[in-house]
Amino acid sequence: MSDEFIALSVPNLKGNELKYVTDAVETEWVSTAGPYVSDFEKRLAEYVKVPAAVSTQNGTSALHVSLLLCGITREDAVIVPTLTFIAAVNPVKYIGAEPVFMDCDDSLCMDPIKLQQYCETECDFTDGKLIDKQTGRHVKAMVVVHVFGNMADMEAIMPIAAKYNIKVVEDATEALGTYYTAGEYEGKFAGTIGDFGCYSFNGNKIITTGGGGMIVSNDQELLAHAKHLTTQAKADQANFIHDEIGYNYRMTNLQAALGLAQLEQLEGFIETKTANYNRYKDAINKIDGLHVQDFREGIRSNYWFYSVVFEKDEEGRDRLIEELKENHIQSRPIWGLISDQLPYQGSRTFQLEKAPWYWKRVVNIPCSTNLTIAGVDRVISVIQNFN
Ligand SMILES: *Cc1c(COP(=O)(O)O)cnc(C)c1O
Repeated sequence: MSDEFIALSVPNLKGNELKYVTDAVETEWVSTAGPYVSDFEKRLAEYVKVPAAVSTQNGTSALHVSLLLCGITREDAVIVPTLTFIAAVNPVKYIGAEPVFMDCDDSLCMDPIKLQQYCETECDFTDGKLIDKQTGRHVKAMVVVHVFGNMADMEAIMPIAAKYNIKVVEDATEALGTYYTAGEYEGKFAGTIGDFGCYSFNGNKIITTGGGGMIVSNDQELLAHAKHLTTQAKADQANFIHDEIGYNYRMTNLQAALGLAQLEQLEGFIETKTANYNRYKDAINKIDGLHVQDFREGIRSNYWFYSVVFEKDEEGRDRLIEELKENHIQSRPIWGLISDQLPYQGSRTFQLEKAPWYWKRVVNIPCSTNLTIAGVDRVISVIQNFN
C-alpha cells in the first residue's frame, strides 16, 4: 500500500489561480485597490444570492465588524457556541463584551431548545431587551456557527431571536455553499438568513485566498457601514477625515484574484466532497461502535469536514488519531470546548451536556478536494483494521 502523506484539509489550486494572480502582479495591482476585489465580492454575492458583499482580511475580522454593527458594547453579552473554533468567540472579547456559552445538539450546531430555555428561565425580557438575571447584561446578539458545513437549525433559531430581539450573526466560515432545499428557507444559503453572515477563505476552508473573509447582509445600509469600518472609516478620503474608529481589514487584490479562481471551482469541490463523504460513510457506518456524522435533512451541505464519532468509548479517539498518523494520514480531534480554554474559564455557561460528549468522541478525517478515491479507501482501511 502507498504510504504517501494524506493531509486533513489543504488547498486545491488547479484552476485559474495562477492566471489571475499573474495578471494582478503584471498589472501591479497587488494591494487593496484593484479590480479583483470588487469582482470577487460581486461574484460571491451572486453565488449566495444577496445584493452585495464586503471582503475582509479573514473570517475573524468579518465577525468582529459584524458584532460591532450589531451595536455590541462592553456592557453587553453575546450568546455563542462552546463547541466550535475559538475565532467565533474571540471577537466578542475584542469588544470587551461577555460570551454566554450554549450547548450543541446532535447537528453539532447550537441547540435551539436550550437557547429558548436560557432566554426564558435565565433572563428577563423587558422594554425589548433581554437581560441576563445573573450578570445583568443585555443579551444583544448571538453567533450561530454552521459547524463543518452543516446548517444550524435556523427555522427554530430565527423565531427565538425575533421573540427576544437578539441580533443573529451567522458564522458561515465553514459552510460556504450550504443551502436549504426545503422548508421556509428553501433556496437560502448559510450566512444569508440572519442579520449578518461571515465567510472565511483560510487555507483549510472549502475555497481559499490564502487568508481572507467576507461579510454579507440583506441590509445594504449596514453593509455600506461594514465597508466603511473595514477601510479605516474615511468620511472624506481626499482630506483624511475619519468619523469613527475604523480598521484596516481590507482584502488585497492578490487574495481576491485567488478567490475569484477558487469560486469558479466551488461547485466542483462540493461534488468531490460529497462523493468522498458518501464513500466514507458507507464503509465506516458498518463498523460496530462508529458512525460518520450526518448532515441535516432538507439542506444541500457543502460537506466541508467529516466527523467520525466513537459512540461507546472515549479512549478510541486518541488511539485512532495515533494509528492514522502511523499510516501517514493526518486527522484531528474536534475542538476543545471554548468555555474550558484559559481566557474563558469562569464565563457564563448554560447546561453544557452534548458538547462535552462530542468533544471526547469526534475525530475529523481527511476531506481535501485533492483527495482521491484510493486515498479515501486507504483511510477507510486503517479505520476498519483499527483496534
Ligand atoms: C475558520 C473559522 C473562523 C475564522 O476564520 P479566519 O479566516 O481563519 O479568521 C471562524 N469561525 C469558525 C467556526 C471557523 O472555522
